[in-house]
Amino acid sequence: MALRNIRVEGDPILRKRCREVEAVDDRLSILISDMIETMYDADGVGLAAPQVGILKRVVVIDVGEGPVIMINPEILETSGSQTGQEGCLSVPGKFGIVTRPMYVKAKAYDLDMNEIIVEGEELMARAICHEIAHLDGDLYIDHVEGELMDAVAD
Ligand code: ZN
Repeated sequence: MALRNIRVEGDPILRKRCREVEAVDDRLSILISDMIETMYDADGVGLAAPQVGILKRVVVIDVGEGPVIMINPEILETSGSQTGQEGCLSVPGKFGIVTRPMYVKAKAYDLDMNEIIVEGEELMARAICHEIAHLDGDLYIDHVEGELMDAVAD
């Protein structure tokens, strides 16, 4: 496994639509392992393939309950809403207030290309929406309510 370079806002690749994954080959398995390692190294709760320069519909999420791999993810249902802080590894040092659903149910494929259902509330729901949006070139900064703010360095 290896760390990948995280692309930052301004890089046109972050604004492109990603392609569906047709099959999981060795290259894709390595990509996913690298994405998980890169997410942990950067202290993120999610990472989408375009953030490491790969235009494929793959995201990884870990909100503290172990890594979730989602290939070709699609949101099936949402309910409620939550308004809170959001940040992105591709927009370092910033955060903003974004409203997202409180509950999300999504479908995706796992590494064996079996269909899986991923559900979540609160942070998990927010992460699912944020990461899937990346696959269509959508960044949270497009949806910030008020100003994008500077995170206090620690
Ligand atoms: Zn992001």
